[in-house]
Amino acid sequence: MSAPFSLDSAIRKIPDFPKPGILFYDITGILVNPEAFRFCIDQMVKLYKNAKVDAIAAIESRGFVFAAPFAERMGIPLILIRKKGKLPGKTWACKYALEYGTAEIEVHQADVKAGQRILVMDDLIATGGTLNAARNVLEQGGATVSGFFGVVGLPFLDYQRVLGDIEVKTLVEYFGE
Ligand code: AMP
Repeated sequence: MSAPFSLDSAIRKIPDFPKPGILFYDITGILVNPEAFRFCIDQMVKLYKNAKVDAIAAIESRGFVFAAPFAERMGIPLILIRKKGKLPGKTWACKYALEYGTAEIEVHQADVKAGQRILVMDDLIATGGTLNAARNVLEQGGATVSGFFGVVGLPFLDYQRVLGDIEVKTLVEYFGE
């Protein structure tokens, strides 16, 4: 049997980006490595193939890259959650706090169906604030978040506290900066 693929080796770590003190986990190294990218999508399908999920919701923009092939493989709808002002139709919106200042995300009202069980994903989960805002906009549409997924998780930032008792899954975790 071949050794398991090391995703860590495909993730570049850039100190002090985008500002001093932040260690940036750069997933572009996965995208330029077809073996790494295929490994991610295969692992995601393995994690969720038996889950009761009606749709995937993904966060702009690096979340889209992983969610699109995954949703296609799962054969379920992909809902785009975008930064404010990008979606042309009527939207549900949520403002949330960043480390400095605030951000706002939106989802098309027409894309969310009441009663849907939705898996929300992004490339990386840090504080969980972005995913929690995503939950807010989906719940405004009457949907339920059944799980959260990040290719990378930084559990030392305590995202599970922000995300409550909804299950969080990741492919690789880092425990310090
Ligand atoms: P948060 O809302 O704190 O969970 O932050 C998650 C969002 O910010 C994701 O869309 C990530 O792409 C981005 N992000 C936050 N921290 C980092 C980091 N250390 N390296 C790479 N991306 C990050």
